[in-house]
Parts: sequence; structure tokens; C-alpha cells
Amino acid sequence: LEVTGAPIFSGGKNWKGIVLVFHDITDLKHLEQMRKDFVANVSHELKTPITSIRGFSETLLDGAMKDEAMLEQFLQIILKESGRLQSLIQDLLELSKLEREDFNLTIEQVDIQRLLNDLLPIVEQHAEKRDVELHSQIGGQTRIQGDSSRLKQVFMNLLTNAVNYTPEKGKVNLSFEELEDQVMISVSDNGVGIPEEEISRIFERFYRVDKARSRNSGGTGLGLAIVKHIVEAHHGTISVESVVDEGTTFTVKLPKTFT
Ligand code: ADP
Repeated sequence: LEVTGAPIFSGGKNWKGIVLVFHDITDLKHLEQMRKDFVANVSHELKTPITSIRGFSETLLDGAMKDEAMLEQFLQIILKESGRLQSLIQDLLELSKLEREDFNLTIEQVDIQRLLNDLLPIVEQHAEKRDVELHSQIGGQTRIQGDSSRLKQVFMNLLTNAVNYTPEKGKVNLSFEELEDQVMISVSDNGVGIPEEEISRIFERFYRVDKARSRNSGGTGLGLAIVKHIVEAHHGTISVESVVDEGTTFTVKLPKTFT
């Protein structure tokens, strides 16, 4: 709570009373705390791969390079860690672009069913590597107004997450439904699920249910924050239903016309 005050004079030097203004700064404090947490998180996320890149290159230069197997193994780690840095920086730039006041979508006519269909072969490759089955019920054409490259990002992120958080032999399903003024797209999996008390937090930047699992699959912890921004910029909604060890469904609703 912040208090400012001023006396009220009734003419001359006699004062009648005093005005006190109480500002509830809980929200401001909360925002400030979130900003600080964000900076701390970014620094930590950048530090981890850099420490590992430095460590492994130093060890190689100190002599480990002479062992060919080690050389190969360490170089693979260095490559993977620099890839992580790259994704992280890309996602951070993306997020900061989306959060700018003057950010605008590029609205055009998009055949949303086709857009989804075009993503499938890319996700299929990833799913095959992880031995996850990918299904979809998409066929036909539905035009909506939206930003096609941003919408691709949304569904790429949701599908990649579904594959990543589903164990081998699991299933991921992409479905589409046309409603009156909206389209509804669901991505569901029968994977690890999300504990109920954490569902409300997964759209926060860097929030992860299982840090090790996220890092292992190359996640930056920013994907869903980006997804939510884009969906809301389209005046759409995103919701989640999940049961631990049974699976998760993300449902996106987008208006057909952008207003
Ligand atoms: P990440 O890069 O870690 O995947 P996201 O922002 O995309 O970051 O997701 C945040 C967290 O939400 C993930 O770390 C994971 O714990 C959880 N999550 C997202 N999608 C799923 C899913 N399909 N099944 C289970 N957990 C999920």
C-alpha cells in the first residue's frame, strides 16, 4: 500500500482537514516481481548451455581431443547445446515481438484445414523418431481470416509438445470442427498429462512441469506463452484438459472473421 496526503486549507493558515490517498500497488509490485523473475530465468537458461559448451571445449583442448570417440561425443554435446541457445534466443525474440504495443498480425484469408494438413508431414517425422503415432481427421476446406505463419507456429508448438510429452507407442490426435462463427482445433495425446494444480501455470514464461523432460526434448519453456499470445491476438481462446498419466487435450477456438 502506498499513501500520499495533502492538507485542505479553509483560507488563511487554518486548515480544515487532510486528504489521504491510498494506492493499492499489489498489481504493480506483482508486475515488478514478474519482470525480475523473468530476467533471472533468462539469465539462468542462457548460462546452462554456455557453461556446458565452455566446459566441453576446454576439456577437448586440454587433451581429450586425441581420443576420437570422446572428440565425437563432446562435439555432439556442443552442437546440441548451441542448438538450445539458438532456440532460446529465437523464442525470446519472438515473444518480445509479440508483446510490443505496435505488434500487428498480417491478416489474410487462410484455409485452416490445409494449413493443418501441411504441418502433418513435419510433425510425422518427429513422431516417428519417438515412436509415437500421429492421427488426424482433417479433409476439406475452411477459410478463416488470420495470420498464416503465426497460426502455423501455434499448431506446430502444440503438436510438438503432444509428441514430446507422450511416451513411446503413444498416440497424438489432431482434430478439426467447424462451428457457426468459429473453428475448433484440438490436439490431444495419451501422454504424461499435467497435474491439475499446475494447469493454470503452463502458459507462463519458463514454467515447466518437469524441467528435465522439457530440456531433454529441446523445449525452451516459452512455447505455450507464444501460443497463447498468438491465439489471443486472433481474438481466439485456448483451453486445456488433462489427467496425469492419461493424457492432455489442448483446444483452440478461432473466430472465422477477424474483427
Ligand atoms: P516446453 O518448451 O518446456 O515444452 P511449453 O511452454 O511449450 O514449454 O510448455 C510448458 C510446459 O507445459 C512443459 O514444460 C510441460 O511440462 C507442459 N506441457 C505442455 N504440453 C504438454 C502436453 N501435451 N502434455 C503434458 N505436458 C505438457
